[in-house]
Amino acid sequence: MHSYSSYRRLAAVLPIALFASGCSRTEARPNDAPDAPSNEMAAARARVALDSASRHREPNEMGRVPILEYHLIGATEGRWEREHTRFRRDLELLYARGYRPITVAELVDKRIDLPRGLSPVVFTFDDASPSQFRYIERNGELVIDSTSAVGIWLEFHRTHPDWENKATFCMLSGAEAGRAFFGDRNIEGQKTAWRHAKLRFLAERGFELCNHTLWHAQLSKYEDAVVQEQIARLALAVDSAVPGYRVRTLALPLGAWPANRTLAAKGAWTDPRSQRTITYDHAAVLLVAGGPVPSPFDPAFDALRLERVQIVGNSLERTLDWLEKPGRRYVSDGDARTVASPRVLAATVGADGRAPSAP
Ligand SMILES: [Zn+2]
Repeated sequence: MHSYSSYRRLAAVLPIALFASGCSRTEARPNDAPDAPSNEMAAARARVALDSASRHREPNEMGRVPILEYHLIGATEGRWEREHTRFRRDLELLYARGYRPITVAELVDKRIDLPRGLSPVVFTFDDASPSQFRYIERNGELVIDSTSAVGIWLEFHRTHPDWENKATFCMLSGAEAGRAFFGDRNIEGQKTAWRHAKLRFLAERGFELCNHTLWHAQLSKYEDAVVQEQIARLALAVDSAVPGYRVRTLALPLGAWPANRTLAAKGAWTDPRSQRTITYDHAAVLLVAGGPVPSPFDPAFDALRLERVQIVGNSLERTLDWLEKPGRRYVSDGDARTVASPRVLAATVGADGRAPSAP
């Protein structure tokens, strides 16, 4: 494993003067109505300031992209839990620093269609706990808990319309403790009957549904047939909720590869009850740790082995600071048909295939 210091050394040889000078004018937006709610006024002001910063960010579509990894979203902060107001602050921080979300599938398909000067960030949520998507029954109607990840995301999208509904949910369908399509059997008040509606809701709004196996089996411990059953049964469960949905991404439970690694990407299992054969063919496989991944246009990009940044404490801030160093951060040129790459960087980035494991 490469050390962080080797990246510091690499960075030292990267060119520094990448930022072209340009105009620093800021413009008032016509829709800054005086009677708009104050949070929307603040958001509008932030957008104006951001537009100015984005104009100065040199496009670099050979730069790196952070894939963030979240587990529980809850009342306290911990190793596997993000306190919910802190999660909201993560969205604000990324927005203010010029990041916009894309899904894993869009990353591996090289579908990064962002305005000039903005950068992609990928959100992944593991384990499908109720804390990510919780319904509350209110006067006979189901409403999304505003403190769950989906509730916080949708509210942020409402006030920041260019923050789209693009995140990747790596789900279990049959694990214990409510880790089954965001809750079952009244765990945290979630009813089994709500599970399919939650998946349909996510798929209809543009979120990506991702495979994290049936019940989080550590795939390194099982023979080939069990590995394929674990993966295929999640795919089958997704198909029951959203008929025809094609799952593109697998997140390895605990980051453990099956002995036969190719089975993470491709395999088949026949349901003994129906005799129906379920096949899967993933475009992306996610690991559990690491740093920002190379650009999908970089030959070092490996869609079937994507590292992720675990969000613990200040790891997001540290990662974003690390990406600010010249040449590291993917910055869009605003034209999805071309790949912008500062000439000197193109030769340097890609020679190095690894991100820091602990930025
Ligand atoms: Zn997991």
